[in-house]
Amino acid sequence: MSLIAELRAALGDTAVLEGEAMGARPASDMSLTGTSLPRAVIRPRSTEELATALRLCNAAGVPVIAQGGMTGLAGGANPSGNEIAISLELIRGIEEVDAASATLVAKAGTPLEECQRAAEEAGLFLALDLGSRGSCTIGGNLSTNAGGIRVIRYGMAREQVLGLEAVLADGTVISSMNRMLKNNAGYDLKHLFIGSEGTLGLVTRVVLRLHPPPGEITTLLCAVESYEQVVALLRRAQSGLGGIVAFEAMWRDYFHFNAEALKLRFFDAEHPFWVIVESTMDREAIETFLSACLEDALISDALIAQSQAQSRQIWSVRHGHPIEVLPNLLNFDVSLPIGMIGDYAVACTAALKQRWPAAHVSFYGHVGDSNVHICVSVLYGPGEDMHDVDGIVYGVLGQYHGSISAEHGIGTLKRPYLHLSRTPAELALMRSLKQALDPKGILNPGKVI
Ligand SMILES: Cc1cc2nc3c(=O)[nH]c(=O)nc-3n(C[C@H](O)[C@H](O)[C@H](O)COP(=O)(O)OP(=O)(O)OC[C@H]3O[C@@H](n4cnc5c(N)ncnc54)[C@H](O)[C@@H]3O)c2cc1C
Repeated sequence: MSLIAELRAALGDTAVLEGEAMGARPASDMSLTGTSLPRAVIRPRSTEELATALRLCNAAGVPVIAQGGMTGLAGGANPSGNEIAISLELIRGIEEVDAASATLVAKAGTPLEECQRAAEEAGLFLALDLGSRGSCTIGGNLSTNAGGIRVIRYGMAREQVLGLEAVLADGTVISSMNRMLKNNAGYDLKHLFIGSEGTLGLVTRVVLRLHPPPGEITTLLCAVESYEQVVALLRRAQSGLGGIVAFEAMWRDYFHFNAEALKLRFFDAEHPFWVIVESTMDREAIETFLSACLEDALISDALIAQSQAQSRQIWSVRHGHPIEVLPNLLNFDVSLPIGMIGDYAVACTAALKQRWPAAHVSFYGHVGDSNVHICVSVLYGPGEDMHDVDGIVYGVLGQYHGSISAEHGIGTLKRPYLHLSRTPAELALMRSLKQALDPKGILNPGKVI
């Protein structure tokens, strides 16, 4: 019997999609770099069905690829043409919210927004939040160790996970559904599956840690004259403003391009840096803080959003949709020690402009958690392509010992550059782990390592 026939027999005909029934969705994540459909899409309805599917694929030596919400930006869920895609979309739903232990148990295919809502209904707060919240799945969030806009206060996806259930390549179910904050009973196995982009196992259920709601959030926009002052403002805000929930910097070119396109003008003068700070302190404390910063010349100007609408306007500049119209736009996601980001931006811009003097290069990002995004738009000459830009951006980054992926993962797009962020010994250990957990190499081959 063929593998597809075996899968149909084990899971039922409706769980196996082939040909036109697959639609176009399984071909690419939101990096829009995928070009091939998988051999078939399997839609298991439970951990047990998923384990059966993996056992059959492993026995046949056929590669599989996990697909969650397909919002990834690194090509991690893109098929190369011969894999069977395992969609998590039917392993979905909230199983439990436990207010006493402040935990939430969800199936892996549940959209992040559904998890957030369930926490909120119980009077609690799920700290993970990304722009793709309506479409990305909690299983995909863990598998990419997603970051987002609340990392500075609450940490990345990894920090929100107490336990999980995963299925290994051979169909073995690893149920590690810990619900305690403290548990040092041996190796913490959940970390093998968090951030490994579906290459070591498929996540099927998760136990998330919840927090008390942060309270009312106020948005500030500050004008700053140098990167050193951006860092000084970060440190002052962390001590003087108490709970800051966001700290996002935008370099002049990024801010002005988007603000002008959106027809938004917050101040009369132009400034080299703009910083969004969000705080849960009361307004009086925020005003006192800003006065002190102005007096010490840490900031040149500041605005406190007077309404939700004005806060959304400020964030619309940061989200930066207008910049997407630039030709051949590439958006990089890197991280560096916070103190080095300013120098890296100068060196990276110089290196890119030396090669393409007319290039548009601009920077923005969650600087408060060492993450910066780089927008590069270049008109290529004959024989040139985007990999030339990659080489320069990551090459300069290597000199600063930064990471080629702050939050989007490695997938296929960054795989050729992983050696710039990891030592040979680290890469060898990653390969040993892969060999131990997936000896036939069927899980998401060609991704990460
Ligand atoms: C508008 C927008 C905003 C975004 N903002 C952010 C942001 O602020 N921070 C950030 O980090 N990312 C961001 N992203 C990227 C993306 O949303 C995240 O990477 C997200 O975590 C991916 O989840 P997903 O369910 O869509 O996973 P997919 O794209 O389906 O898959 C991503 C990877 O995880 C694997 N995978 C998926 N599900 C499982 C599973 N159950 N078990 C094992 N492996 C699995 C896949 O094989 C693939 O390698 C954004 C994307 C968009 C489109």
